[in-house]
Amino acid sequence: APVIGVLALQGAVAEHQRALHAVGATTRLVRRPAELENLDGLVVPGGESTAMARLAASTNLMPAIREHHEQGMAVFGTCAGLILLANDVADEAGLQGFDRIGGLDVAVRRNAYGAQLDSFEEQLEVRGLEAPMTAVFIRAPIIEQVLSDDVEVLAEARGTAAAVCQGNLVATSFHPELTEDTGLHRLFAEIAESRRSRRRPALSP
Ligand code: GLN
Repeated sequence: APVIGVLALQGAVAEHQRALHAVGATTRLVRRPAELENLDGLVVPGGESTAMARLAASTNLMPAIREHHEQGMAVFGTCAGLILLANDVADEAGLQGFDRIGGLDVAVRRNAYGAQLDSFEEQLEVRGLEAPMTAVFIRAPIIEQVLSDDVEVLAEARGTAAAVCQGNLVATSFHPELTEDTGLHRLFAEIAESRRSRRRPALSP
């Protein structure tokens, strides 16, 4: 089974752990860089991207996540986690001057579904999943633009991408951990496990 970390600075941590356990993954809470060692994957949960970026700054956790990703660790970002993964963020207020993870070739705009629609649910067809899933959007970022052909759109909501995949990065603007449907967590666990063999081998003693 893959070993998957859950970034546990703030946000929907326990819900992701539950979903990961349901698909057979072993989990580890991550609050500092050393806890990233030997993970197959990392979930960056929803919550508040500005709070997470601030809490991560004291230990340089965001650049450490980026380095581990470059060495093969898969990353799954949901909602605020998508904001932290995106290479381009509009409405950066509160994020300026703080490191993010980056690496995902999309442009997002925070809180962009409009005041009246701050939170809503929608049934989405997701590529690779058998049945449509209920997607919960909570003050969600919108993916305004896909910036590279390497990004595969897995699902769309209201005419824009709501779930994307690029190599071993997966991201959703909604919260897949808040429903019983664990399809996306299963997909991510499979991606994390399949990439394990490609990772740079650890130096032998
Ligand atoms: N609005 C939040 C942000 O900007 C994201 C909301 C969420 O993760 N549910 O980080």
